[in-house]
This record gives sequence, C-alpha cells and structure tokens, in this order.
Amino acid sequence: MNPVRSLILAAADHDAVRRAVATAPVSRRVVRRFVAGETVAEAIDATAHLVEHGLRVTLDHLGEDTADRRAAERTVQTYLALLDQLHDTGLAVDAEVSVKLSAVGQALSERLALTNASRICAAAEQGGMTVTVDMEDHTTTDSTLRVLAELRRTWPSTGAVLQAYLRRTLDDCHELAGSRVRLCKGAYAEPASVAFTDPHEVDLNYVRCANALLAGGGYPMFATHDPRLVEIVAERARWHGKAPEDFEYQMLYGVRPAEQARLAAEGHVVRVYVPFGEQWYGYLTRRLAERPANAAFFLRSLVSR
Ligand code: FAD
Repeated sequence: MNPVRSLILAAADHDAVRRAVATAPVSRRVVRRFVAGETVAEAIDATAHLVEHGLRVTLDHLGEDTADRRAAERTVQTYLALLDQLHDTGLAVDAEVSVKLSAVGQALSERLALTNASRICAAAEQGGMTVTVDMEDHTTTDSTLRVLAELRRTWPSTGAVLQAYLRRTLDDCHELAGSRVRLCKGAYAEPASVAFTDPHEVDLNYVRCANALLAGGGYPMFATHDPRLVEIVAERARWHGKAPEDFEYQMLYGVRPAEQARLAAEGHVVRVYVPFGEQWYGYLTRRLAERPANAAFFLRSLVSR
C-alpha cells in the first residue's frame, strides 16, 4: 500500500485521533465546510440555502461499504425520509439524490443493492425527483452498470457516473451518451492496468469523454472543479450547439463556492453535491487516504475560493 495512504489510515483509525479531529475547532470548521451536517434536517437547511442562491443540489447520505443488511436498511430509510422532506418543503424541483450501491448492500449481493436502489428510485419518482448512482472503485464498475441498466428499465432518467481515469470509460460514454451521465475524473486509487495514472492523460480523456457525451442526445453532467476543464466544456458545448439547459456543471459542497456562484450567474445549471450523515469522519479520511492528491485538494479548499 502507498505509504502516505497507510499513514493516514493508521492515524485516522486511532480513537485519540478521531476524538481530536471531531472536536478540534479547526477540523470542525473543515468538516462543516465539506459536510452539510449529520441529520436530514441539516441537509434540508443546506439545500434550501443553496437553492436560494440559484444552485441545484444532489444529496448523498454518507456511509459506504456496508456489509450489514440492517445498516443498508437504515440507509434506505434515511433516503426515504430525505425524499419526503424535499418534497414537503418544495425543494424537489431543484434537488435529487446520489446513492452509493455499496451503502445499500452491493457487497452482500447485487440483487439486494438493486432492490434497495429501486425503493429509493420509486420514492424519488413519487416526489418528482431523480437518482444518480455514484461510481465507486473499478472492481464494482460492471456490477454498478448492470444495476443501473436494470433501474433504467423502470426509471430511465436514473443518472450514471463515469470516471475519466478509467481506460474503459470512453467506450462507456459512447454506450451511455443518450442518457443522464455524470462525468468525473475518479476518486479511488486504481492500478495502471485499468486507469490512467498521469493526471494529464486523465484530463485528455475527460475532454474526449466530454465530447462523446455532448455529441449524444443525453444530458451530460460535468463534475469537476478544474478551471481548464470547466472552460473547455463550455467551449465544446457551444461547438455542439448545446443551450445552457442541455447540460450541467457539478461541484462538491464547500469546494470553489465562488466559482459555483459565478457559473450560475452566467446562466449555467450548477448542481452541488451535498454529503450529510454521521459517518463524515470516514468520508473525509478515506477521501484523503484513497488518493494522496485529495489531501492537497481538501487543504487547498481552506485557502482558496
Ligand atoms: P482536480 O484534479 O482535483 O483539480 C484540478 C484543478 O482544479 C486544480 O489544479 C485546481 O486548479 C482546481 N481545484 C480543484 N479543487 C480545488 C479547490 N478545492 N479549490 C480551488 N481550486 C481547486 N468520484 C468518483 O470516483 N465517483 C463519483 O461518483 C464521484 N462523484 C462526484 C460528484 C461530484 C459532483 C464531484 C464534483 C466529484 C465527484 N467525484 C466522484 C470526485 C471526482 O472524481 C474527483 O476526485 C474530484 O472532483 C477532484 O477532481 P477535479 O476534477 O475537481 O480536479
């Protein structure tokens, strides 16, 4: 294992470190900047605030890699409560949810993940919302795309996520270009056998994939904070004759908020990915550990706008 990753994971696993991170004033500020809160009510407040400022939202209940049926059920119940609240507060028109299949039982069985994701999709549809199925590490890509294809038989607007760092992704983009697809760079530590490891190669592939999605008749969702890619996407979208409502930008809660506001003010659709839930500690430390570049990514956010 990469030594930086081992170090972060080992340190993060200590109770003393966990307590210090959870209570230190600076880290609490960091957490609150990147995580909307622990409860559905706090997630709703954050959503209302963003929507008031002209942004759309996709909400993620934190918690991955569930190997416990009851934990998967609790996740489903939280999503159902959240969707109810979004509907009741009139936020449904600007909101949707993002779901990690590993949080709803994928490690136990693909069928359980499909059943649980279907319950979330059904509730979302009832409230006038959509679901996007997050993409996790490459060992789950085929399974996730199979579940997605099943979900789309009943809910065709269910969103896919494709990761530009995977060598397979341009083919997947051609396959899915007629549908709702989020394109991101990818957040997991992947081997060179399946992923581009040179950041420049990843960026080049992001542009190739963006072109493929824009050429299709679907709805591409460009998830990146990278200023060059944001600009290239805008230029490519114009070249493909796309109107601002034909695609959207997506960024993470607390990351480049000024840029989110600027793009929205220019007339672009901008959706903010809002994570919430008690399992924020794992979210932050795993993000840092999975890919050392992410440590810089989070730290940079403290000093830049
Ligand atoms: P990076 O390569 O991290 O950064 C490129 C450049 O962007 C930097 O050089 C800098 O100029 C600028 N920049 C980046 N961050 C900052 C900052 N904080 N402040 C100022 N400038 C900055 N990954 C998955 O694997 N699966 C998913 O389902 C998934 N969903 C996502 C959903 C959304 C909405 C977003 C935004 C990301 C998602 N990701 C997902 C994470 C994604 O794959 C990347 O790991 C993450 O977004 C970092 O890549 P980047 O494109 O922002 O650029």
